[in-house]
Amino acid sequence: MPEGPSILLLKNKLQRYKGKMVTEASGYGEMDKSAIQNVKLEEIETFGKNLIFTFKNFFVTVHLGLFGSMLVNKRKKVNASFALHFSDAEINFYVANTHFYRGRPRDFFNYKTDILKEEYDGEFVLSTLQEKFADKMIGDALMEQELFTGVGNIIRIESLYRAKIHPDSLVKDIPEKKLVYLIEAVVNYAYEFLDQLKTDSVKEQALIYGKKTCPKDKKELAIGEMGRIKRKTYVCPKCQKMYQ
Ligand SMILES: [Zn+2]
Repeated sequence: MPEGPSILLLKNKLQRYKGKMVTEASGYGEMDKSAIQNVKLEEIETFGKNLIFTFKNFFVTVHLGLFGSMLVNKRKKVNASFALHFSDAEINFYVANTHFYRGRPRDFFNYKTDILKEEYDGEFVLSTLQEKFADKMIGDALMEQELFTGVGNIIRIESLYRAKIHPDSLVKDIPEKKLVYLIEAVVNYAYEFLDQLKTDSVKEQALIYGKKTCPKDKKELAIGEMGRIKRKTYVCPKCQKMYQ
């Protein structure tokens, strides 16, 4: 599944369509597209794993699930689930979930939690984590999109390894300074991830994601579906402390 940085990169690729007229929208998705006709595309943004197309009084979010993809001025043999058409171009989304909202994105989304936004607020994330997610395992809490907006499985695993925290540790048992370190590691790694995407080297440069041994002590990693979220997890039992 694409993580926040992958979506930010897609957004950057689409910037040349900002300010252009959308002649129509199509696709088999059920969202009502009738408002998207001869309207100016005012802004293209992201919120975590969502691309946002903003028009004058409304906006549309596009979320690529596990199998979603985007093509610009190209088509697959199968039908797009959502597409934006311009007089001389088109953006096609496959297996994407879309939502239509009246208003502005900031009225609906809290940019303070988006790991790749200037508005990102680590203090806000820390206090919310401690207040509302105290009894959760940190490996699960990291996937909560309203708290760590844009984090996906690779960012989750790599930042926990960098912070030396075992994913099954409960949030309330982890010392605050370790949580602060983790929150910083998430953001720092997200920007590394973004850079590595440009050379297609995210998996190659990952420290433990997709690997068999810890790069530090060469110990075999524990690999399996962990936590309640049951996502594939990689842990070094020696480096990553289980707080309890
Ligand atoms: Zn290790």
